[in-house]
Amino acid sequence: MIPSPASSGNPHLLRLPNWLGDFILALPSVHLYQGWLNRRAPLLVVGPPALAPLAPLLLPEIEFIPAPSSPFSLHSIFKNRHVSSATLFPNSLRAALETLPAPYRAGFSRPLRDYLLTENRPRRTTPYGYVHVADQYLGLLEDLGLPKGKAELPLPPTLPKPQDAPAQPYLAIFPGAAYGPAKRWDPTSFASVIRDLQKSHSLQPILLGGPADIEACRAVAQSLGSPITDLSGKTSTLELAHWIAHAHLTLCHDSGPMHLAAYLRKPAVAIFGSTEPAWTGPLGTSVTVVRHKVSCSPCFLKACPIDHRCLTRLTPEEVLTACEQRLNQK
Ligand code: SF4
Repeated sequence: MIPSPASSGNPHLLRLPNWLGDFILALPSVHLYQGWLNRRAPLLVVGPPALAPLAPLLLPEIEFIPAPSSPFSLHSIFKNRHVSSATLFPNSLRAALETLPAPYRAGFSRPLRDYLLTENRPRRTTPYGYVHVADQYLGLLEDLGLPKGKAELPLPPTLPKPQDAPAQPYLAIFPGAAYGPAKRWDPTSFASVIRDLQKSHSLQPILLGGPADIEACRAVAQSLGSPITDLSGKTSTLELAHWIAHAHLTLCHDSGPMHLAAYLRKPAVAIFGSTEPAWTGPLGTSVTVVRHKVSCSPCFLKACPIDHRCLTRLTPEEVLTACEQRLNQK
């Protein structure tokens, strides 16, 4: 069981996942843990350096420590700060190595690292379907002695509008998906939906994404065949959040931006391909999920070994209908 903070007052540490989406799905657990500590001990959160710019937005009043490139470089923090407890959400061996100096180390049971932890628990499962990732994190904390929590995202702060944002309503489009091509919809289909939303709602389209999404954005711009603002690779992750916060609608895949929109309570339509909404779907009610369920879905593969039917059978009309419905709910 996670040691009670009353005994020492030394910091507790949570190691969060490296993907932005999973990081956001862990936020209900972070806030449950912080509430349980009730200021009796500080909570330190370790996560990927790439998400450091987002930490003040996602984890206000919580100290965020970017994970160093070597897992052993974190050891000095444990020694200098006398960290008493480390709980790990990633399955990785690396996360277990990072936290070795903590007297108490707990996480999900994994065959190759269980011997490095002082306590491990199996991931929650059910014979009837999937246990959502957010509930798995909460379930781990509950199994380690914390109270039962709810998969509800904390309220976000209000974000200012990006300086370059247009005066007219805009559509934020994220055609990339860092996970792999199995999650990505066809650029010509994106272009078709963009054209229709330009006509029906006068939405100015803005292409967005990180450096890895530049190609996907360029493909959509080429398919559109008319000028479009493309900011892919030109914004920080925090700036992406600002763009989502002021978009009339966000159109994306099952990706970090989808979870950011859910966190910000902003309207979005998210396209699912090889993955499963019951497992990693957005929390809350602001994001509409669209998918074409096929017998091989979900496969959770990064690249499709067959004909990508889960996404090629999803028509622009279906996605447009979801966008129209989401816009009409505003
Ligand atoms: S195997 Fe099926 S679910 Fe997986 S990417 Fe291909 S079509 Fe989609």
